Amino acid sequence: MTPLLTDTTTAVVTGAARGIGAATAIRLAGDGMRVAVVDLDAADCAATVEAITAAGGHAAAFDADVADAEQVARVIERITEEIGAPTVLVNNAGITRDNLLFKMADEEWDAVVGVHLRGAFLMSRAVQKHIVEAGWGRIVNLSSTSALGNRGQANYAAAKAGLQGFTKTLAIELGRFGATVNAVAPGFTVTEMTAAAAVRAGVDFEEAIATMAAQIAVRRVGQPEDIANAISFLTSRGAGFVSGQVLYVAGGPVA
Ligand code: NAP
Repeated sequence: MTPLLTDTTTAVVTGAARGIGAATAIRLAGDGMRVAVVDLDAADCAATVEAITAAGGHAAAFDADVADAEQVARVIERITEEIGAPTVLVNNAGITRDNLLFKMADEEWDAVVGVHLRGAFLMSRAVQKHIVEAGWGRIVNLSSTSALGNRGQANYAAAKAGLQGFTKTLAIELGRFGATVNAVAPGFTVTEMTAAAAVRAGVDFEEAIATMAAQIAVRRVGQPEDIANAISFLTSRGAGFVSGQVLYVAGGPVA
């Protein structure tokens, strides 16, 4: 990987130990950014950091629970001191706690809304200070096709739809400071999240992939790199006139 830029842009990618977050961290490092690889446990970020540094990029691992205000404040301070003030933020950390409404526990609702919505709020609020100071920034929030409704995911769908309103509002508020704010809404993407969902549903993952692929226009499911490519565009300098948008990356039209 040869960095295309040698600027000092620092990007924060949450939930970057694996899956879409890891692919995004690697991609943004390839775009020339210094990347803060953030996840619940910094040790879990080692593979992502190693992949970046082995390819000549610049990255460091940081631990934080994005739903915890104190941890978020602390990690943004540490990132600023150790690799530079962040002006690019990808709110990717996520969990699922699927259940039908009548069985959904309070904790399942709170956990999902907490990580996705509160997490994106806390991280964005902490990073906006640096964006305003720099007069430039990019925020990308991970929504989902589930925002349009998905059986067994009232908590997740509400959070992912909420992130779309959050995205549009931040785009309006931060635009005057040189920032764009967009959402990427993936369809079915092969990660541990979808593998675990298949296990919970008692379905073989390869069969689930084949079934999903047959319903998708391009006849395949998504890979983390497909989502990272879209995020790369939205965080690029050239995407400065694209803001407040929700980009479905799902291999076909979904709405
Ligand atoms: P994943 O493989 O499960 O990875 C998510 C990462 O987020 C994990 O490393 C997880 O850490 C971390 N995380 C969870 N809670 C956190 C917290 N409170 N603070 C910091 N990090 C936390 O998921 P993925 O499939 O890559 O999904 C990434 C994003 O894309 C999520 O927002 C997801 O909702 C969204 N998305 C995924 C799909 C899909 O098909 N995969 C589709 C649409 C949208 P632990 O492993 O320690 O829990």
